[in-house]
Amino acid sequence: MDFQPDAGLDVFRAEVRAFVRENLPADLAGKPVGSVRSMRADLVRWQKILNAKGWAAPYWANQDGGTGWSVLQRLIFDEECVAAGTPTQDGFAHKLLGPVLNAFASDEQKAAHIPHILNGDRLWCQGFSEPGSGSDLASLRTRAERDGDFYVVNGQKIWTSYAHESDWIFLLVRTDAEVKKQAGISFLLVDMKTPGITVRPIRSIDDCHHLNETFFDNVRVPVANRVGSEGDGWTITKFLLNNEHASAAELPLLRRYLIQLRKLATAQRAGREPLIARPEFALRLARLEAEVTAVAMMVKRVAALEQDHSAEAHALGSILKVRGTELQQRISEFMVEALGDHGAVAYPEPHDTCDGDALPFQDVGRGIANEMFFRRASTIYGGTSEVQRGIIAKMLFQL
Ligand SMILES: Cc1cc2nc3c(=O)[nH]c(=O)nc-3n(C[C@H](O)[C@H](O)[C@H](O)COP(=O)(O)OP(=O)(O)OC[C@H]3O[C@@H](n4cnc5c(N)ncnc54)[C@H](O)[C@@H]3O)c2cc1C
Repeated sequence: MDFQPDAGLDVFRAEVRAFVRENLPADLAGKPVGSVRSMRADLVRWQKILNAKGWAAPYWANQDGGTGWSVLQRLIFDEECVAAGTPTQDGFAHKLLGPVLNAFASDEQKAAHIPHILNGDRLWCQGFSEPGSGSDLASLRTRAERDGDFYVVNGQKIWTSYAHESDWIFLLVRTDAEVKKQAGISFLLVDMKTPGITVRPIRSIDDCHHLNETFFDNVRVPVANRVGSEGDGWTITKFLLNNEHASAAELPLLRRYLIQLRKLATAQRAGREPLIARPEFALRLARLEAEVTAVAMMVKRVAALEQDHSAEAHALGSILKVRGTELQQRISEFMVEALGDHGAVAYPEPHDTCDGDALPFQDVGRGIANEMFFRRASTIYGGTSEVQRGIIAKMLFQL
């Protein structure tokens, strides 16, 4: 992996920066982002702008409708978007489902879904976890029984982020209860408008609504919506989860936090001077910045190994998940600490699924306590830190 400066990349950065400056609508710039993705309307508007430019899928290869950018180009794109405060993309569609469709779906399935992902017309959620089946995902019990050209799905998913504002769900179901548990799982694409689906909100510790329980009661799903063969679901899941671990460090988020922390410490006073002028504060900030830079380098390494299914690639994805999410927690805690008395105030996030009046983004303290609370979950979702450490130990043993 080459970390040396590259003049070609500087040109690319200038092109991205100019594009974002000229095309990001002023009313979208710097709008707060929800815990994982922006408000639906914002995200969709920005996605259409990217699609019109041919930049809809920065993480995909050219032949899949993506930009075909190198790892470093993607990082530059992310950095410029964060610095300008663009809305996010739909990570479930772009980072999790998209690579699965590109690798495993039929041509008909790709034609049915990829254009909508690229144009932001269809937002996705992930239906994997169930009560009792989180870390031990292969024990899932939501069943899909064949009835002619349909599966009839019954069961319950939980912690389904954004199910209430998603159009489709990618769903793991049990199609065979008689075989080894991993061998009896299939991967379905389900329209959330299908009769029999009920979504119930779960309000999380940040006092917002991102999470849901999703119930399936005799939901009829065309067999044509199954990705891969019946029983292939576990192979597809392992592929998807490895991508999820690697992207769970959420480098753009870490960078956004650092920008926010600097702003906040410049505005916040400690006696007669701004907080940022305090050597002990500056030292802690510099340490965190160095750690985020180290994560950025690891992201490059993992991304460079992305077609590689070696033990090293798997271990790195998990190491990144643990490091990145621990940093999310530490930086968000530091922001709350930096705000002093104001840090104790938790406002609902200015996200469309939260209550409360929107305060201007200039108030950099806005919603930070909520953010800190929400980040407690980052070492749980996408595979807990304990489970990641188990994977790392196992993989290192194979090296
Ligand atoms: C904010 C949030 C958003 C989420 N979004 C989604 C989503 O959109 N879609 C979705 O499908 N799921 C989602 N999840 C669910 C998430 O993937 C699970 O919570 C996670 O996999 C852990 O499963 P669990 O909650 O059942 O905990 P459990 O698996 O029951 O774990 C309980 C405890 O036991 C530990 N443990 C379990 N197994 C081991 C082991 N082998 N070794 C060591 N320790 C172990 C865990 O680390 C944890 O501390 C989300 C969760 C959260 C909190």
